[in-house]
Amino acid sequence: MSALADLPPLRQSLEAHGLMADKGLGQHFLLDLNITRKIARLAGPLEGVRVIEVGPGPGGLTRALLEAGAHVIAIEKDARFLPLLNDLRDVADDRLQIELADALKADEATLTGGAPVAIVSNLPYNVGTALLIKWLTGPYRPASMTLMFQKEVAQRIVARPGDDAYGRLAIIAQATSQAKIVMEAPARAFTPPPKVDSAVVRLDPLDQRPPEALIAALERVSQAAFGQRRKMLRSSLKVLGGAALCDAAGIDPARRAETLSLEEFMGLAEALRRAEGAN
Ligand code: SAM
Repeated sequence: MSALADLPPLRQSLEAHGLMADKGLGQHFLLDLNITRKIARLAGPLEGVRVIEVGPGPGGLTRALLEAGAHVIAIEKDARFLPLLNDLRDVADDRLQIELADALKADEATLTGGAPVAIVSNLPYNVGTALLIKWLTGPYRPASMTLMFQKEVAQRIVARPGDDAYGRLAIIAQATSQAKIVMEAPARAFTPPPKVDSAVVRLDPLDQRPPEALIAALERVSQAAFGQRRKMLRSSLKVLGGAALCDAAGIDPARRAETLSLEEFMGLAEALRRAEGAN
């Protein structure tokens, strides 16, 4: 039986199967195995570890995950890649499960039998943020996430108060996980190159995730506050209680969203829950 190492270079596999990138599906491929191996390393030791990969495409990252010893559940929406991925499965010693599905609709708990697994992906740009929110706030809780995003999205995930990129995504990501940019990838690393650079973010979910209702309140507060980020909170939060809500959380209503720490947003979310519970 042939082995992973005997597979042809990715570019050759794509050509052999007559495959071209479909930009509508956010397809920008990593064909350099040195890069995909680095991403696999950033996901931590993977020997015997179960991994979900969204969007394997031609399988460059999938190969690296398998080489590192992972058991991979690969969710791909584009059926054109199935023959190529089947070639990979043939040499993967029963460690590659291929699911033809839309990852936004996939039920990770069913796919994994409920076990928390690592998620490692070079995500399609058009659904990257939606998938991240699903994994951070939805019922299925991954053990860790090592995810390639557009650099601008990566910066929004890890942004701190005062940063231009600080907003709702930073609040939700940091309220539920430890998030860090662990690698940058220039546009030229991809085939075809996208218009923007990319970065890998490693997210480790907190042991104690805030309760669902508090996260929902946090989303509403941060959405309203950053929806009018240059305005004072008394005005941007008007629909949620304005100055009275700020007072209840011990926050000066003359401040602006971008100056508030995560803890202060949590305080506003808790005050909103108390106020609505009291009505
Ligand atoms: N992992 C490959 C690589 O690094 O070369 C491909 C990455 S490419 C940025 C994104 C992949 O996600 C494509 O293969 C695309 O077909 C797939 N994709 C796009 N939307 C998807 C969705 N909703 N569910 C599952 N896969 C999706």
